[in-house]
Amino acid sequence: MSDYWESRKVDDIFNKNTDDAISKLKKIYRQQGREIQKAITNIYITMLEDGGISTVELYKFNRFKNLLEEINSILKSYGEQEIKVISKGLEQATKDIIGDIAENSNISFTIINEKAIQEIVNTKFKGESFSKRIWKNRDNLGKLIERNLQNIIASGMNKDKAVSEIMDIHNSSFHNADRLVRTETMRCINSGQIETYKARGRTHGYYSYSKDKRTCDKCKKLGEETKANPLPLEDLEPVHHPNCRCTILPAIDLKKYTKSDNIDKSNNFDDLKKYFKDNYNIAFSDNIYELDFKAVKESSIGIDYVIKEFPQAKNVFRGLDVNNSGVMCATYGGVINFNPLYYKDYEQLKESMYQGDTTGFHPKNTGILECGSHEMGHILERALIEKYCNTDNQKIMAWRNCEQAKILVSNACKNAKKLKEGKGLKNKQLIEQISQYAEQDKSECLAEAVADYIANKEDASILSKEIWKLLKEELG
Ligand SMILES: [Zn+2]
Ligand SMILES: [Zn+2]
Repeated sequence: MSDYWESRKVDDIFNKNTDDAISKLKKIYRQQGREIQKAITNIYITMLEDGGISTVELYKFNRFKNLLEEINSILKSYGEQEIKVISKGLEQATKDIIGDIAENSNISFTIINEKAIQEIVNTKFKGESFSKRIWKNRDNLGKLIERNLQNIIASGMNKDKAVSEIMDIHNSSFHNADRLVRTETMRCINSGQIETYKARGRTHGYYSYSKDKRTCDKCKKLGEETKANPLPLEDLEPVHHPNCRCTILPAIDLKKYTKSDNIDKSNNFDDLKKYFKDNYNIAFSDNIYELDFKAVKESSIGIDYVIKEFPQAKNVFRGLDVNNSGVMCATYGGVINFNPLYYKDYEQLKESMYQGDTTGFHPKNTGILECGSHEMGHILERALIEKYCNTDNQKIMAWRNCEQAKILVSNACKNAKKLKEGKGLKNKQLIEQISQYAEQDKSECLAEAVADYIANKEDASILSKEIWKLLKEELG
């Protein structure tokens, strides 16, 4: 799911459930306040009828002790109501998020059971369950009222002023309840997300911090760090601090495909040539030796990421060479070319990529690496042609007319429209979400989708993800 849709969906579930719980809590606090006010008014009337407002009068006949008992029993009975309301809200938020993810996944869902939900709801945040926090807050409130009442009465303050001071203390305690609901709701939503990602076979995830709200520097930093280096799902914290609005997204572990091999370890063109020869048996032209090694290596990694995911495309990938068209280009013959005009200067190449990314011409977060992935996308289309066309003539025509890309993109659009976030969108709008260049033709759309997916994984546009899925079905 894209960051945008993910955060909108979480926002919807969060807002619906917190609004509901908070409006019920307001009612509870209003009634509770009225009862406490009544108790204080009564003791004032008793003292006035007896001998006036003083500490002596307050302690006569166990008056103060009885008053505190009354206040504590009010706090206790409304505390029970508060727990009920919050507990129900947290359950609902957990169910909503799990249900929503299930609805948007093509998997049958079995982890939703009462026990799992109750476990999430009652898990401790920083050492305390939400109900324990509520009792602690209420305990503090009782003590605060006690201490202030003693001082107020000792000072001889009149009834109306006394009541208004105690009500201020009471009402400000509502902020604790409000914050608790927000923090705990977020905790449950994120815990529910973690569980569903696990059920879908995901192992790693990262924090997505909310960009439009008051995000603290710590959350922003954690979001950026974990996006670059996703953490095992069980190591992710459902919330970082009270009122935290970060959400959790699953990561696809592409790294596992590269750790064991040595394209990363290539230090020069000879290493790179050997790597491609050993792994894919392709021709690596000597012309490439004229280019900037760092730039070629980075794009080669982008090629490597893709080809590893599509073993069935290996046999149409024939070589790497140099050619003056595009930044890179892929040919019908299965050769991917680097354009020397760009590939002789790493910094300049990076600069031109950066402009493409920021203007939306290419998918977000794409650069030199994904440029290689894009070209590999064209090779994937070539592999589809090989799979579905018989004669050379048919194959060449299919390549020229983007026939296979048209079919695949059209099917992917159909699938994307079945998703909640794709509902009502036209093909053109879905393609626009990938990049401006994806609108060129369906071959470019397919290639841009591959680059988008390599760069953004679960954050890629919905159409890119559907294109990737179909490619995996065809060639994975
Ligand atoms: Zn946060
Ligand atoms: Zn292209």
